[in-house]
Amino acid sequence: MATVPVAETTKNTFIDAGYISGVLECAKGATDAEIRRILDKAERFEGASHTEIAALLMTEKPEHIARIFDIAGKIKRHIYGNRIVLFAPLYVSDYCVNRCAYCSYNCGHDFPRRKLTMDEVREETKLLEQMGHKRIALEAGEHGAECPIEYILECIGAIYGMKFKNGEIRRINVNIAATTTENYRKLNAVGIGTYILFQETYHQPTYEQVHLAGPKRNFDYHLTAFDRAHEAGIGDVGGGVLFGLADPRFEVLALMIHNEHLDERFHSGFHTISVPRLCAASGMSLADFPHLVDDATFERVVAIIRLAVPFTGMILSTRESHEMRGKLLKLGISQISAGSSTEVGGYAKRARNEAANPQFYVNDERDALDIISELMGDGYIPSFCTACYRSGRTGDRFMSLAKSGQIKNVCLPNALMTLTEYAMDYGGEAFRAKAFAAIGQNLPGIANERMRTKAAENIEQIKRGAHDFYV
Ligand code: SAM
Repeated sequence: MATVPVAETTKNTFIDAGYISGVLECAKGATDAEIRRILDKAERFEGASHTEIAALLMTEKPEHIARIFDIAGKIKRHIYGNRIVLFAPLYVSDYCVNRCAYCSYNCGHDFPRRKLTMDEVREETKLLEQMGHKRIALEAGEHGAECPIEYILECIGAIYGMKFKNGEIRRINVNIAATTTENYRKLNAVGIGTYILFQETYHQPTYEQVHLAGPKRNFDYHLTAFDRAHEAGIGDVGGGVLFGLADPRFEVLALMIHNEHLDERFHSGFHTISVPRLCAASGMSLADFPHLVDDATFERVVAIIRLAVPFTGMILSTRESHEMRGKLLKLGISQISAGSSTEVGGYAKRARNEAANPQFYVNDERDALDIISELMGDGYIPSFCTACYRSGRTGDRFMSLAKSGQIKNVCLPNALMTLTEYAMDYGGEAFRAKAFAAIGQNLPGIANERMRTKAAENIEQIKRGAHDFYV
């Protein structure tokens, strides 16, 4: 069948550095009354426009900053409740043609590169599944010859093709380099979850300074990747900035303008926003990066994003320490990775007790089970839910359900059912007792009576060995 030609956006029309700097400068003049109005609006879960966000980014008044944190916590509790979605990365290839100053995969670095064979992909998948993961982020360096789109598609096929006694990987989010509309079509056809791509920095001079060579150096092409993904039919795209490369206020404002652009053009802004912060890695020194973001500023960044886009999931990786993750969960993070390896073949190496050679050094090295147990101890419900994408609640459909508040009717039952499944399949007796107590306490929180009754019935069936219920 002949393929229908599609648009192929490659030119930036929405990020203008002069405009962003001007808005930030102008926002310095925001009055107390204006900032209070913006905060009142955010407190009603109405989000904020980019000019309003600029005012929150620029204020230094302690009473405003305290209220930003307060409202972020309130939004988090109201929209996401105590659910935390879990995932892990799966690195399949470290071949790379780019020269990114912050990344150990930089093609100028000399180390034995590899990509996984399909048997190795299956071995890693099995190890991830043994940790209880149902959702992964597939990661690869950029290399047209060693890691073409066909290789990525083959990996996805191998992962989705695996069924275990306890289930399977049910959602593969994909974090690979910006590519063509045609390649995004191919990814869409094999049923990926979210297409994730970090802009790294929206500040073009910095972008060109840190991306020294390779296709990734093309700022416009990288920036318009989500336009092409949408043009190819991918409804869920996940953005992010690598904090530590440029001024975080500039980055957050640009990220929000990017979100508005996608919302205007495709009626669906970012499905998720990731907040990676620069970590030490082999072949680079953090001392060479003058814009590293300290913890206090980073907390503010997370809180302000939470206010700006209350319905957009926020993802935090093991780049952050145990302590920081605890703080940021309260300020808006809704998804975290657990038990991660940032190395090609890293899960198998870990199982063999071999020394790691990661893409960057993570700061939370706890086992997935420890992280999950501790989340429950802190009153959270770890969720292995992958239902939205499997039920076709993606793109603008997801966003309209989220904005109407109805999404909660499915998120909580799914979280409780998948936690029951996890407890049965991976938890010891003590863990199960703790999980079942938490599930019992949270069931009454399902507002819709029919959904509540159904979830309770399903949970009983899962306790008797059934799998994979979702609504
Ligand atoms: N190759 C893909 C691309 O070009 O976008 C992305 C895959 S890469 C495995 C995932 C992300 O790791 C990058 O987008 C970058 O933000 C992040 N990363 C690279 N080096 C890092 C470091 N030293 N610290 C923290 N994150 C880093």
